[in-house]
Amino acid sequence: MERPAIIVIDMLNDFVHGSLKCERALRIIPNIKKLIDFSREKGIPVIFSNDAHYPQDPEVVNRWGAHAIKGTKGAEVIPELKPSERDYVVDKRVYSGFFETGLDPLLRSLYRGEGVKTVILCGLHTHMCIRHTAADAFFRGYKIVVVKDGVEAFTEEDHISGLKYLVDAYNAKLMTVDEIIASLK
Ligand code: ZN
Repeated sequence: MERPAIIVIDMLNDFVHGSLKCERALRIIPNIKKLIDFSREKGIPVIFSNDAHYPQDPEVVNRWGAHAIKGTKGAEVIPELKPSERDYVVDKRVYSGFFETGLDPLLRSLYRGEGVKTVILCGLHTHMCIRHTAADAFFRGYKIVVVKDGVEAFTEEDHISGLKYLVDAYNAKLMTVDEIIASLK
C-alpha cells in the first residue's frame, strides 16, 4: 500500500452514545484503536474527519436533527479514540470529509509534499459518511481501502449494502485491521 493515511470518520460522542446513538458502533472501537495505535507507531498519518455542525446546517435542519454541534461534548471524538497531538483533526459539515474542508490539501501536503496515495477509511456510517467520503476520494484519484471490521451502520442491511456499493462504485478494497497491519509492517 503506497503512502497511506488513516481517516477516522465521525467516531464522536453523539454518533456512538448520544443523539445518533449506534449500538453497532461499539464493536469497531477496539479495532480502530488497534489500527491508529499501530499507525502512530509507524508514522502513518492519522486524520480525524469530524462532523462539527452549525444548527442551521442542512443535515441538521432537513434530516437528522441536532447532532455533533460544533463546540459541544457530542461533537468530541469518543474518549477511547482521543486524537493524539500528532494526529490531524479536520472538521466537516456534510457527510463527505472532503466537501469544502481542508482535507484534500492536507493529504497532498503529507509524505514531504508527495501526497497520500491511499486513504484507509474507518468509522461511521458505512453507507453515509464513509460512502460520501469515498466518493470524493475516488473523484480525486485516491486509492481506497475500507476497514471491513472498522466501519459500521445502524443496521446490518445498511452496512452490508454499503460495503457492496463501495466496492462496486469506487473499487474500494475491503480489508480487516489485521490484514492492513500485516501489509504495512
Ligand atoms: Zn452530520
